[in-house]
Amino acid sequence: MNNTILDIQDLKVEFPINIGTVRAVDGVSLKLNQGEVMGLVGESGCGKSTLGFSILRLLRPPGRIASGRILYHGRDIVSMDEKEVLKLRGRRIAMIFQDPLTSLNPLFSIGRQFVETLQTHEKGINKKQAILQAESMLESLGISKERLQEFPHQMSGGMRQRIMIGMGLILNPDLLIADEPTTSLDVIVEAQFLDLLADLCRQYNLTIILITHNLGNVAQLADRITVMYGGTLAEVGLSGDIFHTPLHPYTQGLLASIPNIKLDQPELSPMEGSPPDLVNPPTGCVFHPRCPQVMDICTRQRPPAFQKNGHQVSCWLYR
Ligand code: SF4
Repeated sequence: MNNTILDIQDLKVEFPINIGTVRAVDGVSLKLNQGEVMGLVGESGCGKSTLGFSILRLLRPPGRIASGRILYHGRDIVSMDEKEVLKLRGRRIAMIFQDPLTSLNPLFSIGRQFVETLQTHEKGINKKQAILQAESMLESLGISKERLQEFPHQMSGGMRQRIMIGMGLILNPDLLIADEPTTSLDVIVEAQFLDLLADLCRQYNLTIILITHNLGNVAQLADRITVMYGGTLAEVGLSGDIFHTPLHPYTQGLLASIPNIKLDQPELSPMEGSPPDLVNPPTGCVFHPRCPQVMDICTRQRPPAFQKNGHQVSCWLYR
């Protein structure tokens, strides 16, 4: 049975600016299965958040999808009219952001924000029914229903982030895009939040795209990991495979640069160089100026995605 929920095909996203065009996502193809958690990782500016925003067609101007398809249950989001996309947003595909304070309305109580969300999208639902649904959602998030009366500023950062998930899930979507959801949380609250996300994923049979630069987060939660570099996919594989046998030199560099208590690491090995200029990206493999294993072909031809030991890896070493 085909349980593909999202099929991104050769997606290119551009931001025209005065000095040229930023190729923020450059030919990304990726499939996501129902119920899986996909960790999308890479350095800042690698295109991971742009990819998340593109799925909901929420790119900030002048960003635009230049080409490619985003099939959601077989229907292409890129070619949908705005009305159809509006029906998907929130109802079928939800997104939660880094900082809940900027996403929640500071002037309205949490209860009112839940009720407005429900009444905007669910025709015929009355206020009492909406409140009951909001109370039940709060309880599944481990928050007392009495707190519906409160305003965002009366809650802790962790509680606000849980409220954001609740807002995302109240319409019962099947795909949740979480963009750096733990950035504003301390490590203890972050761990609790990730546990909650894992529980909700099972409870609601949710498919999640977890966008993060924190490999620890994806290790805890993701079934598969996609590593992005310079707007392209470097490597995709099962979480355990990516952590234990990374193939792409960029993935290897990323893992070598984070502390691992299971390894005898006298020193961390930071990666040399800086992320590429996406207005004038390097020719061939976009990682070649930083790659310790660069070969002649790497500077001339962009590597396609090769299949190797269950990984999909864009690197000439595996041709
Ligand atoms: Fe390094 Fe070449 Fe592989 Fe790119 S294609 S990661 S430059 S070895």
